Parts: sequence; structure tokens; C-alpha cells
Amino acid sequence: MSINLLYHDVTAAGADDTSGFAGPAAARYKLTPDEFAAHLDRISDCVTEVPARNPLDVLRSEKSWSITFDDGGLSNATVIAGELERRGWRGWFFIATDFIDRPTFCSREQLRELHERGHVLGSHSCSHPERISSCTSEQLLDEWSRSCGVLSEITGQAVTTASVPGGFYSTEVARAASRAGIRLLFTSEPTVHEFVVDDCRIVGRYNIYRGMSAADATQLLTNPMRRWRQAAFWTAKKAAKTVAGPVYKAVRQRLLNRAYSS
Ligand SMILES: [Zn+2]
Repeated sequence: MSINLLYHDVTAAGADDTSGFAGPAAARYKLTPDEFAAHLDRISDCVTEVPARNPLDVLRSEKSWSITFDDGGLSNATVIAGELERRGWRGWFFIATDFIDRPTFCSREQLRELHERGHVLGSHSCSHPERISSCTSEQLLDEWSRSCGVLSEITGQAVTTASVPGGFYSTEVARAASRAGIRLLFTSEPTVHEFVVDDCRIVGRYNIYRGMSAADATQLLTNPMRRWRQAAFWTAKKAAKTVAGPVYKAVRQRLLNRAYSS
């Protein structure tokens, strides 16, 4: 069993758009440098194991955890990797490869360095489709194979891990990942249960949001009740999305607008 944490970017207060995707929806997952350092400090005080850094550790170890980062924002290279390394840790960075070398994303050179410093690079698709589960099987295969190809070229190694953009997992998404040679696929479902689709193992992750306290983040690793709470919330949200669909989207947008206009 592995407990996997899902972070995104680390940006200074008031400078949300300096790393990763822009806008208020993406900003909800961006921590300030102080918040992020406090999370890592608290985790290292409470958890003795170092985070897993290869797929076998994630899959076989009895009690492992990993720290993952989606999108490939610039802060992966400029802030996050250094903070992890200061504690002797390494992270998993999932890169949406069409964005490499864009101003708020990592460059090829930065990604090569992350790999050389012992971090794991994986695919996060090429284009980060708004809803990857709506792509055709050809599109899915293209998103996974091309992005793994780009990263393999950068690292000089086969890339066999990935994470699902936007959390829009489906069996077809996993099947295409397997066909593209991906053997370990991280979703955004907060669960420790894993399963297999074709030749690909699927594992969940617990989401970290802006404003989540260091104690809360740490408890995701140490307290099954805290994990259960996030899972219950996620299930309720998923049900609301399915039932309400467009209404849910409109309400959420209105709430977001209100939260960010005040
Ligand atoms: Zn993403």
C-alpha cells in the first residue's frame, strides 16, 4: 500500500500565475513557499520513511508514501526540487509536454536536471485536455505515447509512469496508457486501493489544496480517518457532478468568482 500525495505548484503570495497554468481554478492547488516548507517540515517530523522514488517501492512496499507534482510548472525546478532535496527526498513530476519551454513551465534543460538529480519524470499527457476521458482512443494513445517519447528523449530512459490530467480517469484512459507502455498510472482519486488495467497498475492520490494546514497534510499520511474524510468528500463531489453536470459547473464558477473577487 502506498499513500500518494498530489501537489501542483509553489508560488509566492499574489503571484499565482508565475508557475503552471494561470487562473483561479489552478491557483486553488498552489501553495506559498512558506506553506510548502511547513508541510514538508511537519511530514518529516511525523513520518520516518523517506518518500518512494521508484515504481517498485510504490507497488510493493508495505508502508510507502510518495510526493507527486502535476503539470510541470516552473516552480518544480525553481523551488520544489530544492526543498525536497534539502530533506533528502525526491519527488515525482508529471509533465504536460506541450507546455515545456513555455514561460511559466519547466524548460527541457530544467527537466533534464531534475532527472539527473534523482527525481522521477512522468507523463501528464501532451496537451492537458480539458476532459481527457472524452478523447477518442486514437487521441488518448497519441497523448500518452508522444508525451512519453518527449520525456524519454530528455531523460535518455524509457518513461513508464504517468498521471491523469484533471483527474478525469476512465478505463479507456488507462487502456491507452497501457498500450503506450505506461506501467504505473496515478489518478486523482483519494484512495490507497490499487488495481490493474491490461499491463498498467492504477494508484490513487490525496489532493493538497492551498490553505490546507501542515497538520492536515501530514494526517493524510498518518491517520486513516483523515484519508477517509477526503475520500468521502471526493465521492460526494463526484456524485454531485454527475447528477448536476452543467449546473454544478456554473455554481462552482460563481463561487470561485466570488471567492477571488473579494
Ligand atoms: Zn494537471
